[in-house]
Amino acid sequence: MNWDEFEFETRAVRAGQERTNEGEHSEPIFPTSSFVFESAAHAAARFSGEEPGNIYSRFTNPTVRTFEQRLAALEQGERCVATASGMAAILSTCMGLLKAGDHIVCSRAVFGTTVVLLNNFMGKFGVETSFVDLTDLQQWEAAIRPNTRLLLLETPSNPLTQIVDIQALAELAHVRDCLLAVDNCFCTPALQQPLALGADIVIHSATKYLDGQGRGVGGAVVGSDTVMEPIYSFLRSAGPTMSPFNAWIFLKGLETLSLRMQAHSAHAMELATWLEQQPQVTRVNFPGLASHPQHDLARRQQSGFGGVLSFELEGGRDAAWRVIDATRICSITANLGDAKTTITHPATTTHGRLSDDEKKQAGITDGLIRVAVGLESVEDLKRDIARGLN
Ligand SMILES: *Cc1c(COP(=O)(O)O)cnc(C)c1O
Repeated sequence: MNWDEFEFETRAVRAGQERTNEGEHSEPIFPTSSFVFESAAHAAARFSGEEPGNIYSRFTNPTVRTFEQRLAALEQGERCVATASGMAAILSTCMGLLKAGDHIVCSRAVFGTTVVLLNNFMGKFGVETSFVDLTDLQQWEAAIRPNTRLLLLETPSNPLTQIVDIQALAELAHVRDCLLAVDNCFCTPALQQPLALGADIVIHSATKYLDGQGRGVGGAVVGSDTVMEPIYSFLRSAGPTMSPFNAWIFLKGLETLSLRMQAHSAHAMELATWLEQQPQVTRVNFPGLASHPQHDLARRQQSGFGGVLSFELEGGRDAAWRVIDATRICSITANLGDAKTTITHPATTTHGRLSDDEKKQAGITDGLIRVAVGLESVEDLKRDIARGLN
């Protein structure tokens, strides 16, 4: 089936599914570690690659493949490989594409564990990383060295929702012979398709919006056949593959992705607009607001503004903790991308490892609160946050 001719919503519900002889309507789960062959010659043909097909679930599994094909169709990539987590997706990308002596340029405001992975582990194997401000194209350009192979970023950033021009950065990457990888966790392909803007690789933590209901941990990498082959090769050898059961959960998540992302975006827009009117709130970071410094870029690059916003209170940590502790429905957790709204104090949780100087540089003040707006009634969310504000 060529899914290119169908609209996004149709691909999200149907791409990748091939029925078995049972005529099942929903996607089947194949909880099997290995596969059997009709004869010795058949096994030999599979192992030699002469005949494509399943051998062992560390390599391929039908449920996982359905998820991979569906996500590839949504991101408009030739090939997707599913991984055990978002971090396994980033690790597999680095291990597949880089060698000792190579260099990465990464935006400073990425997921905290990404920084740990690059500095503490990739560094140990001779792959060095330079960190730059996401929005400063000159810093990106200046940081690229002759041995730079990969540019890596998240847009919008967490928790300040800063945005970079993916197309401009893809052009820069290609002039300098590098690959551009975009962690598309915040927007998902429902709102932003980096490959269509020139990026080479899309990385996902499926744990977040792709699932959307906090049921499982998983990840994925999407790109061209050429880029994906060494990444798949690493995954097949090293084994951080997605389980069939998780792949099934994420398939069900993708079916509602478009609707959920529209709702998350609308709810966040409403809450951000309301927060901006509260006298105790000194600043609201949300790409949908006209006050956002890259609002125009966000409108061009994304088809929605997403569900994550942050806001700043005058009273520092005490004020922020008071608002968080006064909530009754928001979940106090560092997770995001869930039907349930989550509320986080970045300075003492997700960004707690940073020194005071690093926090200042990253714009993580003590009075900053991040909200990943869920699917509850926005009126209830306003009341929940207003309780602490008042
Ligand atoms: C959560 C997250 C990750 C890591 O994903 P896991 O599934 O937790 O391993 C990577 N990038 C971003 C932007 C994330 O939010």
